[in-house]
Amino acid sequence: MLDQLPEIIDPVVFAERHSHVVGPIGLQRMARLSDFLFDKEGELNVDLQFYKEGKVPVIEGRIEGHVTLICQSCLDALPWIVDKSVKIGMVQTIEQADRLEEGFEPMVVSEQKMPLSAIIEDEVIIALPDYPRHEHSCLQYSSTQPLIDEPEEIKQQSDNPFSVLAKLKFTGDQ
Ligand SMILES: [Zn+2]
Repeated sequence: MLDQLPEIIDPVVFAERHSHVVGPIGLQRMARLSDFLFDKEGELNVDLQFYKEGKVPVIEGRIEGHVTLICQSCLDALPWIVDKSVKIGMVQTIEQADRLEEGFEPMVVSEQKMPLSAIIEDEVIIALPDYPRHEHSCLQYSSTQPLIDEPEEIKQQSDNPFSVLAKLKFTGDQ
């Protein structure tokens, strides 16, 4: 087991050696993920086991932690829990990816060495919501400027706690 997360790894060699990678990784090491974050400070906890299943090098484990996304409604901070299980089968071609067993996510390994952070941030980014936003209606509407196109039935149900859900549902496809 490695105490400190390595920066650059050869994932195939790691799989052959049955390496176990455990520890925190700073969000600053993940530039692409940072683009989605309101607060780029902090870290994620990584626990990844590398092994081979038949001939396929595999990465399996979990990435956990807290990040702060940007709410796409109000552009304010949106706390988000990362809890991503990882089960990657490494392949060299798309054809090999098609033959992977069910439950494996294919990762095309074109170069031998790659930053460990790149694997981790890819996993986290695919687990992020497409359109992150607060569950409550966080936009402050001006009282002199009523919402246009708001359906009559939702207005009438404004005391109903489910109206927020209804509204989210209504606007969700835009
Ligand atoms: Zn918001």
